[in-house]
Amino acid sequence: MNTPSAEISIAEALAWARKHIPPPEARLLLRYICRTSAAHLAAWPEKPLPAAQWEAFQHFVKRRATGEPIAYLTNEREFYGRNFLVNASVLIPRPETELLVELAVAHFAAVPHPKVLDLGTGSGVLAITLALELDRPTITATDISSDALAVATTNALRFGVTISFLWSDWYLLLKRKDRFQLIVANPPYIVEGDSHLTQGDLRFEPLPALASGQDGLTALTAIVAGAGHHLENGGWLFLEHGYDQAAAVRSLLTNAGFTDIASWKDIAGIERVSGARWKTGQIKSS
Ligand code: GLN
Repeated sequence: MNTPSAEISIAEALAWARKHIPPPEARLLLRYICRTSAAHLAAWPEKPLPAAQWEAFQHFVKRRATGEPIAYLTNEREFYGRNFLVNASVLIPRPETELLVELAVAHFAAVPHPKVLDLGTGSGVLAITLALELDRPTITATDISSDALAVATTNALRFGVTISFLWSDWYLLLKRKDRFQLIVANPPYIVEGDSHLTQGDLRFEPLPALASGQDGLTALTAIVAGAGHHLENGGWLFLEHGYDQAAAVRSLLTNAGFTDIASWKDIAGIERVSGARWKTGQIKSS
């Protein structure tokens, strides 16, 4: 890439970047590097860019031009109105996952002190958002990646919430007697070898957080199979899954003995979350 070397203005920097990445992405990266607003960039196009910021901008634009996700460059992504730390150890939070939060909040609005388990927490967005949205919950969050748990722990500190983080392969290291009123998970569910894994942001995200077996259902099957051992009677399980997996997940839930089985559509109109109750009865508050 040819890069201008002398002192350069905001407008010149953006013009250079536009040869490599789309203009909105260039503006976003420059705003991030300069810690400034879009209005400021637009108002002062002739303002010179300090050398260190110009260096950083070129570095970011070059990385973005190779396809690296914006969220991994800026180390942040918004979820449910809050800004979370993300890096290449964790999946980038998706807007469709907010549906899981909405369902949990709708079902538990009247339950004080719910006991909640988030399996495969990644950056911690589900556990932390539920900690902030539910009524004084007790939350346990697991992940098999210690690098992901480091990100989640940092996010919990950022938002001042207390969560019991546990390094575990799904339920494996939970105590046998640990029971919850709500279990949520956004597990890996893409078919191994699926062409999406070699496109766009997914190329840079951790594969174990995305792909799960020949049918994409390995993790979902394990989570449904173990849920009955860790749900209180009347407790809920909500699972995010792939665009074409709702019927398969509902049948996993049926076979495992769940009741009140349903699927819900995401903002794109796709059945994205399925959920069910363990046996029947009231949700007990602790
Ligand atoms: N929804 C994501 C995607 O298709 C995958 C997330 C996941 O596997 N949990 O890009």
